Amino acid sequence: MDVTGYETGYGAIEVRGARENNLRDVSLDIPKRQLTVVTGVSGSGKSSLVFDTVAAESQRLINETYSAFVQSFLPHYGRPDVDSVDNLSAAIVVDQARMGSNARSTVGTATDASSLLRILFSRLGQPPVHPASALGFNDPAGMCPECEGLGRASSIDVDELLDRDRSLDEDPIRFPGHAVDSWPWTIYAHSGFFDTTKKLRDYTDEEWQRLLYGEEVKLKYGKMNLTYRGIITSFQRSYLTKELADLQPHIRTAIERITTSGPCPACGGTRLSEPARNCRIDGVSIADCAAMQVDELLAFVRRTEAPPLQRLLDGLAALLGDLVHIGLGYLSLDRSTSTLSGGESQRVRMVRHLGSALTDITYVFDEPTVGLHAHDVQRLNELLLRLRDKGNTVLVVEHEPEVVAVADHVIDMGPGAGTHGGHVVYEGPVEGLRRSGTLTGRHLDRVHEANPAPRPATGALRIEHATLHNLAEVSVDVPTGVLTVVTGVAGSGKSSLVLGVLPKQHRDVVVVDQKLTRGSTRSNTATWTGMLDTIRKSFAKANGVKPALFSANSEGACPQCKGLGLIYTDLAYLDTAVSVCEACEGRRFTEEVLTYRLRGKNISEVLELTVDEAREFLTEKPLQPVLAALADVGLPYITLGQPLSTLSGGERQRLKLAVEMTGDSSVYVLDEPTTGLHMDDVDRLVGLLHRLVDGGRTVVVVEHDLDVIARADWVIDLGPGAGHDGGRIVFQGTPGDLLAADTLTAEHLRAHVR
Ligand code: ADP
Ligand code: ADP
Ligand code: ZN
Ligand code: ZN
Repeated sequence: MDVTGYETGYGAIEVRGARENNLRDVSLDIPKRQLTVVTGVSGSGKSSLVFDTVAAESQRLINETYSAFVQSFLPHYGRPDVDSVDNLSAAIVVDQARMGSNARSTVGTATDASSLLRILFSRLGQPPVHPASALGFNDPAGMCPECEGLGRASSIDVDELLDRDRSLDEDPIRFPGHAVDSWPWTIYAHSGFFDTTKKLRDYTDEEWQRLLYGEEVKLKYGKMNLTYRGIITSFQRSYLTKELADLQPHIRTAIERITTSGPCPACGGTRLSEPARNCRIDGVSIADCAAMQVDELLAFVRRTEAPPLQRLLDGLAALLGDLVHIGLGYLSLDRSTSTLSGGESQRVRMVRHLGSALTDITYVFDEPTVGLHAHDVQRLNELLLRLRDKGNTVLVVEHEPEVVAVADHVIDMGPGAGTHGGHVVYEGPVEGLRRSGTLTGRHLDRVHEANPAPRPATGALRIEHATLHNLAEVSVDVPTGVLTVVTGVAGSGKSSLVLGVLPKQHRDVVVVDQKLTRGSTRSNTATWTGMLDTIRKSFAKANGVKPALFSANSEGACPQCKGLGLIYTDLAYLDTAVSVCEACEGRRFTEEVLTYRLRGKNISEVLELTVDEAREFLTEKPLQPVLAALADVGLPYITLGQPLSTLSGGERQRLKLAVEMTGDSSVYVLDEPTTGLHMDDVDRLVGLLHRLVDGGRTVVVVEHDLDVIARADWVIDLGPGAGHDGGRIVFQGTPGDLLAADTLTAEHLRAHVR
C-alpha cells in the first residue's frame, strides 16, 4: 500500500512477510498517529499480528539497546517470524493481565494519585506532618507499625480450630499434631484446669477464656515440666508470625483454613501511622480521601482552595476526572489492585498513560471494552482518541461495533480461525469495511430481535438479603431452567451478586471464570482436560511400553523442560518470561520416546494437532465428547499441547466451560463469556448456551453484549449506577419487557433492537 497516501503525513509501521503462529505471510501498513482497530473472529490471528509481531519486535529492539550485562537479566525475546518491521516506535502493551498480587499496590499507587494526595496533605494538612513520605503507607515513616502498611491482620477463627460439640477427650482440636495423646493435647488435658469429659460449648466463661487466651503457667505432669499457654495465644506465637512458605504444605493448608484476615485493628485498615491518620484538611484525613469513591474525591479536590497549589490541584483533578470518565468513578484509591477485574486493571493502566508526557508511542490495547456497559463505551472511545491526538499510534484489538466505528483505519483478519485464518481480508477505512462483504463487515449493521419466545422458569434460586460490597439488601429469584443475563454498568454489583453471593447461598453452582486456577499455569489443553491420560494409554498399547513414558515428569520427558516444551523464568519485578525449550526445541520428549508412534504420529506431533484435526485423528471413544465440547465452545483451532498460559482470558473461560459441560452440574455461572469473541462467534456461543438450557441446565451470565441480552430468556438489571449508586435491582423480566423499561440498559437495547 502507498504509505504517502496517509493524510497524517507521519507514515506507517510497515510489516512485511509476517508468519507468526497462523499468519500467512502477512504484509500491511499501520498508519502512525492514527487509531487502528484490528478485528476478526477468535483465532484469526489478531494477537499474532499485534502482540506477537509488532509489539514483540518493538520490545526486542528496545532490549537490544541495553548493554550485554543488563540484557542477561532480561527475558530473551526471539525474533518474531517476520521479514521486516520498519518505522516502528516504542510499543506499550496495555492488556488485561491483572496487576499481580502485590499487597502494596492500590488504585492510588498504580495511577500515582496517592503521591499527589500526599503532597497536597503535606502542604495543607493540620497538624502538619514533615516530609510528604511520612503520609505514605509504603514508607517506614508513614506506615502503620502494626501491619507494616498492609492494612490487614490475620486472626484465628476459633470455630475452625475447635469443635465446640466435643470434649477434650473427644479430639476437639482440628489441627495436625493436636490429636488426643499428642504432646500439645496432653498439656491441655492434663493441666488440671478442665473437665476433659465436658463439651467445650458447656465451658464457663472463665474456662473458655483460659482455654483460648490463658496466660503462661508452669505445670508438672508426672516427672515432666509443662508450660501451659492458651490455645489461641500459642497458635499466634507458633504460626502466625512465621512465613507461610517456610512451613510444611499440610500445616500451611491447615493454617489457611483456621485463619481469617481482616482490617488491621491498629490502623482500622487504613495502613497509615497515627500522625498520618490525624493530619487533616477541612476535617478530612488522607485515609478518608483514599476510602472515598473516586467521583466523591474529585468533588473534594475541586472544593479545596489553595491558590499556590493550583497546578497540583488541577493535575490531581484531571487524573481523577480521567478515572471517572473511563467508568471507574466507583473505585476508591485504597482498593487493592489484586481485587480488580482484568478490564478494570486495563482501564486503570490506561489512565496512567493518558497522563504521560511521552508522545509517539505505539499503544496496544487488548479488547478495552471488556466489562464495560454500552453506556461507558462512548467515553472509552473519547479516551482512545485523546491518546491518539497526543501524537501516539493506537492499535486496538476489539470486536465492539461502536469502537470499530470510530477507527481511522481497520484491519480485518480472517476469513476463519486457526489454519482457516491468518490473512488480511480487509484494510482501510470503516465505510469500506461495511461494503467489503467480510464477516465483520456483514455483522456491523446487523439488526437484532428481542427473544420472541422466552422459556418459562422451572423454579428459582432465591437470593436473600445480599449485602456483599455495594449490594443493598438484594433479594431476588434467579429462575432455573432458563438462560438469565445479569446486566448493569461496570461497578453496579453484577459480579458481587452472581459470582460472590449466588454460589455461597446455593450448592451445585459452578462458576466458570477466566482465572487460571492454581496449578494450571503449567498445564496444557491435553493435561488439563484429562485427555492426555487416554492418549498416553493408546501410545503405550500401540508400542508395548509403559504409559508413564509419555507423561511430564517421567524419564521420557525432556529433562530440561520436564515435558512442557517451554521454559518459565520467574523475573523479580516483571511477568514470568516464557521461551521455547532449547534442549528439545519444544518437542517435550526424549528422542527415544519420539520414536514411538500412534497411527503414524509421535506424541509431540499428536500434541501439535488442533482440536478439529484431533477429532478426525483421535478416534478413542473417551476423547470424542471432550473434543466435541471444545469445538462447540468455539475453540476448534487450539492445539492439544497449547499451554494454558498462552490462552487469553476468554479462551480459558471457554475451555473451562467445555470441561464442565461434559460433567453433570446443573447451574452454570459465567462471567462475560463473550470476552475475545467476534460478533460471529457470539452467535454460536448463544446457540451453545441455549442448547445447555435445552439439556436441562440453568445458565446465568454476566454480560454487556446487547446481542446476548436480547436473546436471553430472563434479564436481571442492576443499577441504577455504580458503587453506592448501584447495588439495587432496577429491572427483572424478559428482554421484550426490558425494551419498555426505564433503565440505562433498556435505553441501549432499544437502540440496538428493531
Ligand atoms: P486471535 O487473536 O485472532 O484470537 P491468535 O493470533 O491468538 O488469534 O491465534 C491465531 C492462531 O495461532 C490460532 O490458531 C492459535 O491457536 C494459534 N496460536 C496463538 N498463540 C499460540 C501459541 N503461543 N502457541 C501455539 N499456537 C498459538
Ligand atoms: P460489576 O460486576 O457490576 O462490575 P462489582 O460487583 O464488581 O460490579 O462491584 C460492585 C461494587 O463492589 C463496586 O463499588 C466495587 O468497587 C465493589 N467491589 C467489588 N469487588 C470488591 C472487592 N474485592 N473489594 C472491595 N470492593 C469491591
Ligand atoms: Zn495497621
Ligand atoms: Zn525441552
